[in-house]
Parts: sequence; structure tokens; C-alpha cells
Amino acid sequence: MNMYILLMGPPGAGKGTQAAKLVKEYGIPHISTGDMFRAAVKEGTELGKKAKACMDAGQLVPDEITIGIVRERLQKPDCANGFILDGFPRTVEQADALDGILKELSIHLTRAVDISVPSSALIERAVGRRVCKKCGAAYHIRFNPSKVDGVCDECGGETYQRADDSEETMKNRLSVYDAQTKPLISHYQKAGLYSEIDGSQEMSKVFADITSCLGK
Ligand code: ADP
Ligand code: ADP
Ligand code: ZN
Repeated sequence: MNMYILLMGPPGAGKGTQAAKLVKEYGIPHISTGDMFRAAVKEGTELGKKAKACMDAGQLVPDEITIGIVRERLQKPDCANGFILDGFPRTVEQADALDGILKELSIHLTRAVDISVPSSALIERAVGRRVCKKCGAAYHIRFNPSKVDGVCDECGGETYQRADDSEETMKNRLSVYDAQTKPLISHYQKAGLYSEIDGSQEMSKVFADITSCLGK
């Protein structure tokens, strides 16, 4: 059975962490709009220039840009047998656009999995996050440290702290989430696709809950 999974949840909830586990479990691609924007910023492309200012401020990149890159990505052949969409959609407009794109591709979403974590815990998660420059693996200085400080367990790459993972910018990102992304819950509830997972549990338990709500 092909799996077409949406991972929703506020910044720092554990979407990227769980997506990496789902990739290993199901062998389907992980599509993260945040990772795509960070790659564009690093390459210094036009897209990267446009995205950088929004990301640094903790605001969303405009819908028309974001929808365009996702539309292109979902048409690639590796998405035909499933995907994990992480961090998209984040606005009602993006969710409506995604419905249209999937319809054109004759894809039916399997589930919209919302990783729910109280906002009081999210700032600590983001501020302590360290990410591998090379493969994108996420660590946490306290909750999930790499074996050697500053070095990725998976690939030996160097880990760094994202510029937007400051306490200050996180406050903006959380209020953007409340205002613009939370309304998507009812979008997916109405579609009968919504599952809320308790993301405050330890990572392996969160993963077990996700796979069980996917029916596997
Ligand atoms: P997190 O998972 O911690 O929320 P992401 O890596 O998903 O962070 O996103 C980082 C930033 O990239 C966001 O704050 C936003 O500026 C931009 N971004 C990512 N996904 C989207 C999206 N779907 N729509 C608009 N902006 C996005
Ligand atoms: P998102 O992609 O939703 O922004 P990440 O997967 O990058 O979130 O996780 C944010 C931070 O929280 C990372 O440092 C990660 O190691 C840590 N983290 C993820 N899941 C958990 C968990 N269940 N318990 C504690 N820390 C976690
Ligand atoms: Zn790595």
C-alpha cells in the first residue's frame, strides 16, 4: 500500500525527527519545504534570496513561491509510490492548493498526522536543536545528543545551530503557527484524515503511535 503522509505540527514538534524514521521504515521520500528553502539559501539562488528574509524573521515564505516548489517536487517520479510531506501545508491557501495538486496526480492522502506538543516545551526543543550540515539529521543538546559533540552520527558531518532557532525568532514562529497553520486542523478533520499524536512523549513512543495510526 502506498503511503502519502502529511506531518503537521508546530516548529520544534519533531516532524523532521519522525520523518527520518518513516523514511527508514517505508522507503518513501521525505519532502521538507524548510529543507528545500535552506538548500536554496545555501546555493544563493533567486528562490533562496526571497526565502531568507522571511525565514530569518520567523515569518512564512509567500504562498505562491512555496506552492510552486511543492507542485514541482510532487511531480517527480519518486513521489508516485508515496511521500512524507513535512512542514507543508502551513496555510489554508497551501492546503487548498495541495488538494488540487493531488487531485491532478490522482493521489489520495493516507493521513494528516499532527504531532502535538505544548508550546512551553517547543522553545527548549528548538533552541537546543543542532542540525547536520551535510545530511540534515536533527540532534538535541539535551534530549538527543550526537555521540561526539558537533559531529553527526549518521554521516560524520558537522552540526550547527539554525539561525532561526533563537528564543526570539521562535516566539514569532509560534505565533505564526497559531494564526496561520492551526486552522488546517479543521481542514483535515473535515476530510476525515486528521490524527493527533502526543509529541511530548519520547521519540520512539511518538514513532510507534504514528505507525499505528497509519495502520502498520
Ligand atoms: P520547523 O520544522 O522548525 O517549523 P521548517 O524547517 O519547517 O522549521 O521551516 C523553517 C522556515 O522555512 C519557516 O519558519 C518558514 O520561514 C519557511 N517555511 C517552511 N515551510 C514553509 C511553508 N509551507 N510555507 C511557508 N514558509 C515555509
Ligand atoms: P521539527 O521538524 O518539527 O521542527 P525536529 O524533528 O527538528 O522538529 O525536532 C526539534 C528538536 O527537538 C530537535 O532538537 C530534536 O532532536 C528534538 N526532539 C524531537 N522529538 C523529540 C521528543 N519526542 N522528545 C524530545 N526532544 C525531541
Ligand atoms: Zn549527517
